Amino acid sequence: MLDSVRIILVGTSHPGNIGGVARAMKNMGLKDLWLVAPRAQFPHPEAVFRSSGATDILDGVQVAATLEEALEDRTLVAGTSARSRHLPWPLLNPRQLAGRLHAELEQPEHRIALVFGREDRGLSNEELHLCHLHVHIPTNPEFSSLNLAAAVQVLSYELRMSANEQTAEKEQTAHLPFGTEWDAPLADSRSLERFFEHLETTLVDIDFHDPNNPKQLMSRLRRLYLRARPDTTEVNILRGILTSTQKVAGTQK
Ligand code: SAH
Repeated sequence: MLDSVRIILVGTSHPGNIGGVARAMKNMGLKDLWLVAPRAQFPHPEAVFRSSGATDILDGVQVAATLEEALEDRTLVAGTSARSRHLPWPLLNPRQLAGRLHAELEQPEHRIALVFGREDRGLSNEELHLCHLHVHIPTNPEFSSLNLAAAVQVLSYELRMSANEQTAEKEQTAHLPFGTEWDAPLADSRSLERFFEHLETTLVDIDFHDPNNPKQLMSRLRRLYLRARPDTTEVNILRGILTSTQKVAGTQK
């Protein structure tokens, strides 16, 4: 089940941290590592050194230019943050996350991403708003920021523990995101992002949204739709409504 978990590091500066992450992942049985716009040189001997032999993980690393690209096929995205942000978002600790993910990971079509930020300034608000939920490792509030590889270690350890514990006492419906068989697969990030673009354009078309005075509108709508976990049929319906709205407004291209 841990095979469907992707670890994504955004804008990492130190090659040693990439090696440390690879080691932590291999210790806990994770394999899929992506780098988004790394600021560190990669491949790098320091990464190999700090990986302590987890070179298979380093060899398999995928590099993407943007976070959106690394998330395209994911059905659940969790972003990590060392501090609280302006607009509250669904927030879990690593143990709660592991409990929640374990259930979903039983299903092969669920593909999860855990996103980690830059050593100096974490993830941007825009990047955090690509995520369904946020994870914070409870820490000393006066010294809340862990080393990147240590943060990956804590989350992947919790995933492994939860996998070990729950295999024994598996509920029959635990793997189903809504507690019952669903009639359509969950939408992935690619189709959700297309929907958000379409929504924003339509709201501009009908003069509801002024991109020069956004006042968190798109962030709040993102939070609403991501909380609902729309499936592919629902996204198609929403897109259809937007297209009809544009037709009536006479703005459809
Ligand atoms: N100064 C940065 C901290 C970055 S630490 C900031 O203020 O955001 C680098 C990364 O490690 C973070 O982006 C996050 O992915 C992870 N991390 C560090 N401490 C964490 C914590 N307490 N909870 C969750 N993630 C944490």
